Amino acid sequence: MTTATLVRQTRPRPTGRVPDRSIYERRESEVRSYARAMPRQFSRAEDVWMYDNQGGRYLDFLAGCSTLNYGHNHPVLKKALVDYISADGITHGLDLHTDAKAEFLETFESLILKPRGLDYRAMFTGPTGTNAVEAAIKLARKVTGRELVIAFTNAFHGMTLGALACTGNAAKRSGAGVPLSHVSHEPYDGYYGGDVNTAALLEQRLSDSSSGLDEPAAILVETVQGEGGLNAASPEWLRAIAGIARRHGALLIVDDIQAGCGRTGKFFSFEGMGFTPDIVTMAKSLSGMGLPFALTLFSPELDQWSPGEHNGTFRGNNHAFVTATAALRHFWRNDTFEKDIRRKGDLLSRRLSAMAAEFGLSTRGRGMMRGINVGSGKVADTITLACFAAGLVIETSGAHDEIVKVLAPLTIDEAVFSAGLDILEESIRTVMTGSYSVAAE
Ligand SMILES: *Cc1c(COP(=O)(O)O)cnc(C)c1O
Repeated sequence: MTTATLVRQTRPRPTGRVPDRSIYERRESEVRSYARAMPRQFSRAEDVWMYDNQGGRYLDFLAGCSTLNYGHNHPVLKKALVDYISADGITHGLDLHTDAKAEFLETFESLILKPRGLDYRAMFTGPTGTNAVEAAIKLARKVTGRELVIAFTNAFHGMTLGALACTGNAAKRSGAGVPLSHVSHEPYDGYYGGDVNTAALLEQRLSDSSSGLDEPAAILVETVQGEGGLNAASPEWLRAIAGIARRHGALLIVDDIQAGCGRTGKFFSFEGMGFTPDIVTMAKSLSGMGLPFALTLFSPELDQWSPGEHNGTFRGNNHAFVTATAALRHFWRNDTFEKDIRRKGDLLSRRLSAMAAEFGLSTRGRGMMRGINVGSGKVADTITLACFAAGLVIETSGAHDEIVKVLAPLTIDEAVFSAGLDILEESIRTVMTGSYSVAAE
C-alpha cells in the first residue's frame, strides 16, 4: 500500500446524519476540553485508529496523552482482561491480596526491577497520576520532616492541590482557589538558554543559608516535560540534580507518569543516565490499556508508612493489574521493543527536524515524545485543526500551547507512522504558508 493511499484512508468519511450533540451542551460541564477541538462522537478504537459514529477514521497521535503506548485495545491485553472477567476474577478488593496483584508484582519484579538493578517498594495509590504524585510528596515530607518541595518551571504534576502546587502553569494553578504553597519552582534545564547551568544555580542557592531557599524535602522532576513543552533535560543536568538532592538530604522524585513505560525508549525515562531516583511515580500507560492505574515506587528504607496512613478505595485496580501484567510480559521480556522504539524515535526526529528546517522552526523532546515549536498557540491550534480535518488526532503542549506534540502509540507500524507524519507536514505547510482556512471545514 502506498503512503498516499494510507493518508487518503485516514481521512474521516462522514456518512450518516450529523449526530445530535446537544446532550453534552445540556448536561456536561463546561470543563470539557479535548472534545471541543475534536467535536465528533467516537464509537470504537483499534490499534492506532479511532472511529467516530459517522464512519470517520482517525489516526491517533495523541494516544491518551501517552496512556495508550501500546495502542487501543491491544489484542493480547484485551484477551487477558476478557478471560479474567469471564472467570469472575476479583474486580474490586480494596488493597486485599489478589491473584492479579501477586502476578503483577511478581512480573514487575522479574521483568522490570531485577534486570535494571532497582530495589523499590510499590505503593498502589488512587488510580490517577496525581494520586501517585500526592503520595510521593507526602512520603517525602513525612520521611524528611521538611516541608518545601522543589519543582521546576513548566512542570506538570497533576491537578489535586499538592500536585497542582508543583505544577507551573498559571491557568491550571489559578483553579485551586487557595494558596498553593510549600513549593519553589526553580528553572528547568535550558530555561535561560543553553549557556546558563540551572543546576549550578540551584546548588548555589541551596548551599547559601541566606538565599532564602529552605532545605527541601524533595526535588520533583520530569526528565521530559510532557505538558510543559517537551523540554528534555540532559543526562548531565539530571545527574547534577540527583547529586544536589543527595547532598542536601532531599529525596529525588522522578515523575515518570508521561515519559515512562517506553515513551522515551526505555521502560523508565531515567534509565542509563547514571542515577537512581528515591521515588518514582507512574500512571498513564502502566495499565497498558487505558485503565486507571497509578503506582508510587520508593526505596525500601523510605517505606515508613503506617498501615492505612495513606488510604483510598481504589488502590490497585485489579483489571489494570491484569492488563499491566500482560503488557509487561508481551513487550518487556527482552529488548526487542526498546530497539523498535529507538528506530521509530529516530524516524520521528528526522521527520520533525526536516519540517523544522523547512519552516525555520525548532524541535523538542526525546524518543517517541517529540514535538515541533510553531511559535504560537494560535498557529499550533490551527495546525491541529487541519490535522484533525485530515484524519489525524494530535494535540499541543507548552506554556502557550505552542508545541505540536507527537505521542503516537509506540506500537505503530512505520509506514502508517510516516503517513501520519505526512499529514502533519502538509498541515504545517498549509498553515505556515497561509493557505489554510478554518472556514474550509
Ligand atoms: C498526566 C500527568 C500527571 C497527572 O496524571 P493524571 O492521571 O491526569 O492525574 C502527572 N504528571 C505527569 C508528568 C503527567 O503527564
